[in-house]
Formats: sequence, structure tokens, C-alpha cells
Amino acid sequence: MPSGNVIRGARIGSRPERPTERSAPAPRRAVAYWCRNDHQVEILIAAEAEAPPVWDCPRCGQPAGPDAQNPPGRARTEPYKSHLAYVKERRTPEQGEAILAEALAALRQRRGGG
Ligand SMILES: [Zn+2]
Repeated sequence: MPSGNVIRGARIGSRPERPTERSAPAPRRAVAYWCRNDHQVEILIAAEAEAPPVWDCPRCGQPAGPDAQNPPGRARTEPYKSHLAYVKERRTPEQGEAILAEALAALRQRRGGG
């Protein structure tokens, strides 16, 4: 006869964890988008949620829409350019130097005024 002090199966944490309601998978549906570079993007959203009208393409960053024949962003045909590229397009290096010198002169004037 075992000792009455032994309690079996009552250790803390020995019980298997039951899945809570929160961890139960919510119903989802797949929504497909196409960007103007013919990339197809498929996302999963909650079944009752409204699909967003556009989704950023993870491959090229362009907006993607649900209509494969008419993806958004067609109006902008220019390739991506950095801000610096636009500045360089507008100004020659000489103009840049002049603007810089002007700005520095104004700065010095403000600082040295007192
Ligand atoms: Zn894309």
C-alpha cells in the first residue's frame, strides 16, 4: 500500500494545454492582386473583412489592384528616381555650387551677425 502522501498527476503544469478560443484560426479568404509589372500577389484576409482596393506589390513596390487587366498606377510610367536624381536633373553642378555658396554665405551672415 503506497503512502497517502503521494499525489499523482497533480503537478503544476502537467496538464496538457487546451487551445483557447483566441488561437482558433479565423476563417480567411484569399484575394489576388496584380501590379502593372504582371506580378500576382495573393493575400489572406479575414473572411468578413472587406478587401483593400489596392495592395503594394512586395516584389516591385508598385500598387497592385484586383483587376488583372487594369492594374493601378498606369499613369506613372517613369521609373523610380531618387530625390537626388530629380535635383541633378534640374540643376547643373555649377548651379549647385552657386546655391550652396549662397546658402553658406547666408548662414555665416546670420551666425556672425552678433
Ligand atoms: Zn510587382
